[in-house]
Amino acid sequence: MEKRKKTYAVKVGNVVIGGGNPVVVQTMTKTSTLDVESTVKQIQRIKEVGGKLVRVAVPNLDSVIALKEIKKQVDIPLVADVHFDYRIAVECIKIGVEKIRINPANIKGKEKLAEVCKMAKDYNVAVRIGLNAGSYKKKLKDVKSKLISEVEETLNIFEKFNFKNLVLSAKTTDVVSTVEIYQLLSDKYRYPLHIGITEAGPLFYGSIKSVLGIGILLWEGIGDTIRVSLTSSPEDEVKTGYYILQYLNLAKYGIDLISCPTCGRCETNLLEIVSRFENKIENAKLNFKNLKIAIMGCEVNGPGEASSADVGIAMGKNSGVLFIKGKIVKKVSVENCVEELIDRIKQL
Ligand code: SF4
Repeated sequence: MEKRKKTYAVKVGNVVIGGGNPVVVQTMTKTSTLDVESTVKQIQRIKEVGGKLVRVAVPNLDSVIALKEIKKQVDIPLVADVHFDYRIAVECIKIGVEKIRINPANIKGKEKLAEVCKMAKDYNVAVRIGLNAGSYKKKLKDVKSKLISEVEETLNIFEKFNFKNLVLSAKTTDVVSTVEIYQLLSDKYRYPLHIGITEAGPLFYGSIKSVLGIGILLWEGIGDTIRVSLTSSPEDEVKTGYYILQYLNLAKYGIDLISCPTCGRCETNLLEIVSRFENKIENAKLNFKNLKIAIMGCEVNGPGEASSADVGIAMGKNSGVLFIKGKIVKKVSVENCVEELIDRIKQL
């Protein structure tokens, strides 16, 4: 992996973004912010699956009051997501959020942005200048130039106040343009970059787009925080983010499941076995163990992969062979092979 591009370090509560620190996985709550109880519960679940920063939508001044209450009940840095009204950003800074995301596409006016900047400086709060192609009412002719110039204009305001506590982002729903925009931003600025493909879609489509976009950028050393944006739970977003990092050797996260695609040689219902295994590790909360598990369909690649994994099974017709750390341990039946795997994983 190419060396990570060195950016300024920005402190957000107990998390440091950029400056060569590990890439931070973040997500956003999907509950109504006014519903304090549900939002707190969701933030706790996000934390359980490894989220390091949580962004919360603050659509109006009532939500600021709710956010203040939420803040008291959680112990993870919060990012207030503010659009349209700069006064909401100012109020969020006053209640002690660790970071503000503002969108200069809908908070217009130098004076308003300057107010946010002054307040953030006084309270030592980080600010993300977060552009999104979808925030423009008309289809943009040249998305790249528009987003880059908007970042530049906003930066001019913040830099006048010598404010450096900044993170930049400029996302689109298109993988190629998003990658190109971030390459330009990375060449031009040393501020940490928050990367992701915006509104990427449901789990299947969205994960593919995110893996490509985020993966290409990280491979080039670009990106300090990531958000996988899915029409799915925030937990799915965090897990997908971590698996992107894990498969690029940028983080250790959870179980790496090797399973064969099956073919005409497979004499057992491997799809059912693998899906049973996935459900069991999820329910037993074992999916955060950093282990390589193999579930294979026959003797062609089965014994090789199963013996290279921490725990593996190579299935035959009605039974399979269980491997632990490369050694054959016992024969297992189709019915109990998943339970055997789970028991062994618990012991490791
Ligand atoms: Fe087919 Fe066996 Fe390879 Fe699975 S391990 S894909 S069943 S040959």
